[in-house]
Amino acid sequence: MKNSQRKKILVTGGAGFLGSHLCKRLIAEGNDVLCVDNLFTGTKDNILDLMDNPYFEFMRHDVTFPLYVEVDEIYNLACPASPVHYQYDPIQTTKTSVHGAINMLGLARRVHARIFQASTSEVYGDPKVHPQSEDYWGHVNTVGIRSCYDEGKRCAETLFFDYHRQLGLDIKVGRIFNTYGPNMHPADGRVVSNFIVQALSNKPITVYGDGSQTRSFCYVDDLIEAFVRLMATPEGFTGPVNIGNPGEFTIRELAEKVIEFTGSSSELIFEDLPSDDPMQRCPDISLAKKEMDWEPKVALDEGLKKTIPYFDELLTSGKYVMPE
Ligand code: NAD
Ligand code: UDP
Ligand code: UDP
Repeated sequence: MKNSQRKKILVTGGAGFLGSHLCKRLIAEGNDVLCVDNLFTGTKDNILDLMDNPYFEFMRHDVTFPLYVEVDEIYNLACPASPVHYQYDPIQTTKTSVHGAINMLGLARRVHARIFQASTSEVYGDPKVHPQSEDYWGHVNTVGIRSCYDEGKRCAETLFFDYHRQLGLDIKVGRIFNTYGPNMHPADGRVVSNFIVQALSNKPITVYGDGSQTRSFCYVDDLIEAFVRLMATPEGFTGPVNIGNPGEFTIRELAEKVIEFTGSSSELIFEDLPSDDPMQRCPDISLAKKEMDWEPKVALDEGLKKTIPYFDELLTSGKYVMPE
């Protein structure tokens, strides 16, 4: 491919779980990728095999500060995603979503770049409508412990749509539902990583509440396919669009599957349900099917079996040691 044909693509949060998969996909498609990340939850290990590629560049930078670069497209993923990480410094979490969005939108405005926002199912809060479709406005606590993330992401969506309406920016907003796969941080406290690490270590599986709350889990490859398809939709299509796997499971069912697939001797233990923990979550993906001709292909059983070896390698190599 000639240099002039390579798209220059900025991925913020590119050293994180989803960002690293996205960078790999964009490089494989012959693009020139700039990965911007402050390495708060991301790690260079996730992008190690891209570091020698001349069309891949890593920049350590915090998106709450302005960024002046020349690019054709922007994927804005920078933001800690797991409750443990986004609640560590909640003020910084809101700043990352809000100031990060302003800076990336300002950049997109100056260079006339198409810009994608990694939004979240958390904009629906603890939903009163099931499954959730994009026209549902949500049920979010503004002052709870999840609010820094939920309201930050909601405000980022507002900014995206106002930059679109007021200044004509070419925006794409994807609302991501729970996603799992290799490169997840083993200590990020999310349910899939916690359960697999606990099962592989034959430690008790920590089910919060009675485990009857539901989530819908999407395998990472399916999600990245959705990102790329959404970015390629015609300019008139902005979203917001739900992207996730509509297969819905209780947390208890997930625990049982993980025990089965790891052959673990772990037992379930039940701990307090964190406050504001949504009871049900499942995407209505009709819009993504219609506008992007997309639906997930990897079922939960298959996806777990692809994910377990990644955590197994982290534990057996000693790259990750589970705290006592
Ligand atoms: P992650 O924590 O692995 O990745 C986030 C990345 O952003 C990390 O590399 C982190 O270091 C970086 N980052 C955080 N704050 C930053 C800042 N101020 N400046 C620059 N970089 C910063 O999480 P992920 O699962 O890969 O999530 C990526 C995006 O997708 C996030 O915006 C998240 O809200 C969204 N999302 C993810 C899920 C999911 O299930 N994984 C669900 C909904 C939404
Ligand atoms: N910005 C940036 N990179 C750019 C252009 C803008 O980081 O290439 C930031 C800058 O900090 C600015 C913000 O984006 O404050 C919003 O830009 P916009 O043009 O919307 O508004 P401004 O604040 O410049 O009036
Ligand atoms: N959860 C659990 N045990 C864990 C971690 C999480 O039972 O060790 C539950 C959590 O209470 C929530 C669900 O699993 O109901 C999904 O949690 P996660 O943090 O992965 O994502 P989110 O709550 O943001 O959907």
